[in-house]
Amino acid sequence: MFVCAGFAAQSADDTLGPFSFNRRDPGPKDIQIEILYCGVCHSDLHQARNEWHNTVYPCLPGHEIIGRVTKTGAEVTRFKQGDLAGVGCMVDSCRTCASCREGLEQYCEKGFNPTYNGKETVIGGTTFGGYSNAIVVDEAFVLRVPGNLDLAGVAPLLCAGITTYSPLRHWKVGAGQKVGIVGLGGLGHMGVKFAHAFGAHTVLFTTSESKVKDGKRLGADEVVISKNPSEMAAHASSFDFILDTVAGPHEISRYLDLLKRDGTLTQVGAPEKPMSVEIFSLIFKRRNFAGSLIGGIAETQEMLDFCAAHNITADVEVIPIQKINEAYERMLRSDVKYRFTIDMSSLKQTA
Ligand code: NAP
Ligand code: ZN
Ligand code: ZN
Repeated sequence: MFVCAGFAAQSADDTLGPFSFNRRDPGPKDIQIEILYCGVCHSDLHQARNEWHNTVYPCLPGHEIIGRVTKTGAEVTRFKQGDLAGVGCMVDSCRTCASCREGLEQYCEKGFNPTYNGKETVIGGTTFGGYSNAIVVDEAFVLRVPGNLDLAGVAPLLCAGITTYSPLRHWKVGAGQKVGIVGLGGLGHMGVKFAHAFGAHTVLFTTSESKVKDGKRLGADEVVISKNPSEMAAHASSFDFILDTVAGPHEISRYLDLLKRDGTLTQVGAPEKPMSVEIFSLIFKRRNFAGSLIGGIAETQEMLDFCAAHNITADVEVIPIQKINEAYERMLRSDVKYRFTIDMSSLKQTA
C-alpha cells in the first residue's frame, strides 16, 4: 500500500476537503498512474451529495482521469513507464458475461466496478476516484491517450465524451438527419461537437440565452431557447434523434413531441427524481424513449482515436482543486463553459 492525497466528502451535506488514504501497490496486471488532470462531471456532484441514494462515505469522486504511468506490474503489456494513460468511469467488470464479452462492460450483468464508490478488491474498502494524485488500475481498463491533443481538454472525453459518442453511434446519427442535443453543459457540448462531426444537422436546446453564440461556435446549426414555446413548436415532429443531457427536472414530453414518426429520444442526463412521460406522444407516432450508459472500453478507445484524428477536445475551464466546491455551485447554476477540469498539481498546495 502507499499513501495518496485527494479531496473527498465525508457526508452528503459536507463540502469536499483534503483527505489522505491508501491505495494498493500495483499487482501483476496493474498500472500506477500519476494523475495530471481530472474532469468534473455532474455525476460527481450527484454522488458526493448522495442524490442517487447509494453513496459510501468518505466519497472521493472523479472519473475523467488523465495521467502518466509511473509503475507497471510484471504482466503488463500495453503500457510502460512515462506513457500517457486515461481512466474513465469503470475500473473492472466480470469480463465473462454476455455484455462483457461483447465489449459492453458498462452493462456487465454482475455490475461494473466504478472508479469511485465501487469496491476496492485487493485492500478492501471503497474505490476512490480521480480527485487525487495517483491511481492504480488493471491495464484492461486503461485507455491510450493521444499525444497530439491538449490534455486538460482530453480528460472530459473519458466520461462526457464517451457518454455522448456512444448513443450517437448506436442510433447511427449521420448526414441527412436532424439531431437535437438538450442542455449545453459538459455532456451537451460534447454531444454538439460529435453530432456536427458525424454530419448531422445539429440543433441545440438550451435554457440559457447566454449560450446561443457558443452553441453555434461549438457546431450547432440552430439553437432553440427551450423556455420559449413558439420556438419549440416550430420544430414539432421533425427530429430523427434527440439526446437529452439535462441533470435536473424538466418536461421530457416537450422533446418527445419534436420527434418524427419512429424517432428516438435518448436520455443520458440522470436527474435525482423520476420524471413523467406523456404516453400518447409515444403511441401516436411510434416514438421511442431510451437510455444509454457511458460506453465500453473498446468504444472509448475508438472515441479517443476519433477525437485525435478530428482534433476534438472538451472546452475546459482549468481550476485548482481548492475551487472544487465553488465549481459544484456554478455547475448547479448551469454556469459551466463547458467543463471544469482540475489541474492536479494544485493538490501539492494543500499538503
Ligand atoms: P452539466 O455540465 O451540469 O450540464 C447540464 C446542463 O443541463 C446544464 O448546463 C444546463 O444547460 C442544462 N440543465 C440543467 N438543469 C436543468 C433543468 N432543470 N432544466 C433544463 N435544463 C437544465 O452536467 P453534465 O456533467 O453534462 O451531466 C449531465 C447529466 O448527465 C447529469 O445528470 C449526469 O449525472 C449525467 N451523466 C450520465 C451519464 C450516463 O452514462 N448516462 C454519464 C455522465 C453523466 P443549458 O444551460 O444549456 O440549459
Ligand atoms: Zn461522468
Ligand atoms: Zn460482465
